[in-house]
Amino acid sequence: MDASSFIKKYANHPNYFAPVGSKLNAKSWQTEAPLRMLLNNLNEEVAEDPSNLVVYGGSGQAARDTDSVKKIIELLLELDNNESLLVQSGKPVGKVRTHEQAPRVLIANSNLVPAWSTWEHFEKLKSDGLMMFGQMTAGSWIYIGTQGILQGTYETFVSCAKRHFNNSLYGKLLVSGGLGGMGGAQPLAATMSGATFLGADIDPSRIEKRLATKYIDKMTFSYDEARDWILDAKKKKKNISVGLVSDIGDLLEKLLEDNIIPDILTDQTSAHDPVHGYIPNGLSLSEANNLRIKDPVQYKELSLKSMARHVSFMLKMKSLGSITFDYGNNLREFAKQGGEKNAFHFNGFVPEYIRPLFCEGKGPFRWVALSGNSDDIYVTDKALIDAFPENKNMIRWLEKARKKVKFQGLPSRICWLGMGEREKAGLIFNDLVKSGKISAPIVIGRDHLDCGSVASPYRETEGMLDGSDAVSDWPLLNLMSNTAGGATWVSFHHGGGVGMGYSQHAGMVILVDGTKRAESCIKRVLHNDPALGIIRHSDAGYDKANNNLKKFNLDI
Ligand code: NAD
Repeated sequence: MDASSFIKKYANHPNYFAPVGSKLNAKSWQTEAPLRMLLNNLNEEVAEDPSNLVVYGGSGQAARDTDSVKKIIELLLELDNNESLLVQSGKPVGKVRTHEQAPRVLIANSNLVPAWSTWEHFEKLKSDGLMMFGQMTAGSWIYIGTQGILQGTYETFVSCAKRHFNNSLYGKLLVSGGLGGMGGAQPLAATMSGATFLGADIDPSRIEKRLATKYIDKMTFSYDEARDWILDAKKKKKNISVGLVSDIGDLLEKLLEDNIIPDILTDQTSAHDPVHGYIPNGLSLSEANNLRIKDPVQYKELSLKSMARHVSFMLKMKSLGSITFDYGNNLREFAKQGGEKNAFHFNGFVPEYIRPLFCEGKGPFRWVALSGNSDDIYVTDKALIDAFPENKNMIRWLEKARKKVKFQGLPSRICWLGMGEREKAGLIFNDLVKSGKISAPIVIGRDHLDCGSVASPYRETEGMLDGSDAVSDWPLLNLMSNTAGGATWVSFHHGGGVGMGYSQHAGMVILVDGTKRAESCIKRVLHNDPALGIIRHSDAGYDKANNNLKKFNLDI
């Protein structure tokens, strides 16, 4: 098929989908893989808003504009295995000479010189057509729909249950805001861990999407109805989830009036972007859309004030006993800017629940079946259960995921694996492809919410023992290690999760195609990537990471 027929079939804006099966369209699987994953990121089953090329996380895009998508496709269809494509904030800008074991695509998204790294400057560049916001896995072509965040959210809730609720969330009420691409994982993660869930989203279409994918059980526009449902469920210890169409601040205010204090309280509205993400209290969706175009300065002011109000209710609930944590959207910083001076009086989820996992090199390891065949994922699930019989947590998750998770786009799976485990899993998958037990190659990647590839002082690196929260040499070292190691595509981003000026982070994806070349790349990349997490945390003084440094012979 020539490029223009291919584009007509698979990238007829806004209808994108990845080719499936084992037949190549590009010259090799090394280029077919990024091609399928770019198209998969934009598939309407996966992306929040394909018509604007937005994948998730507020305005996180997979490519800068439709011409860029077409050009990337054309280039990937023709690229040889001794070349690498350069993508600058979603636009293809050149090819460089490399070699067979080098990455086929080198991506840089939304990076700005530090003194210019504000949303205002970024927006100017964006409106001049010079940049896009890549979020984390949107611009690095390894977003897998809401499942991607589901397991991390589940791990967080389970860890919270262990710490505060004697290991059980049955009969406990978990309240949160935001049911978008990432936040939409909360209801299912909550019910999977036993809790009753109530979430607010101002946009009904977001809750409808969660209903359609079975991530949420019920939806209503009425506060009274939502309240009655959850009180009844809590009493009967029934783990149901309810989505209420409402501003989150309004929901918390009403719950306080009714003296309903959640056991666990968090938030995943798109607070990281006060102009294009968070919706100010009191505005309808269309009023918000109009105002952000007409007067972004006033919009931002209203947004910051609303976040201050929202966080003031969270603080009140915390003082009344709710276990309260920030869920990685920079809500506290913007609430502080909006006038809530105690906004940082609750912690982020990483220092609370995730850092011990980072000290083991753990993070959201994920893989996708390029064949489009769900059975390929079930084969990998079984292979992991057989390979890690001691990892009861992982087995419990894989069994639950098989029953509960509806695939979006190409079938995929996620589970948190650490040092040693990732390399072992990668090599097992490579053998399964080689022996034909999996019908086509797979790709392995990860989120940037990760142990060794992120500098984000209000999230992944909040409260580091040695105060090195803002040191971004680490994600650069991660990028360089994965490039030198032979990942199939690598990326370096700015602003993901928490917004412009607040984070820098690196991504990687590696092709598993059953070849010797893949085997040697896997042995390097899936060793180096988690190793960076252990090295980074050991350098910051964490004992657990120090022990792992010795255990895995990483000390120098
Ligand atoms: P999204 O844009 O897909 O969804 C955000 C949702 O918040 C939207 O549905 C929007 O309608 C809703 N919303 C905005 N203002 C609201 C208000 N005042 N009241 C009620 N609802 C409101 O974003 P997402 O992908 O779900 O990400 C959510 C946030 O989490 C982002 O800030 C993102 O950067 C951050 N994030 C968190 C993690 C994590 O691991 N916890 C990872 C990546 C990103």
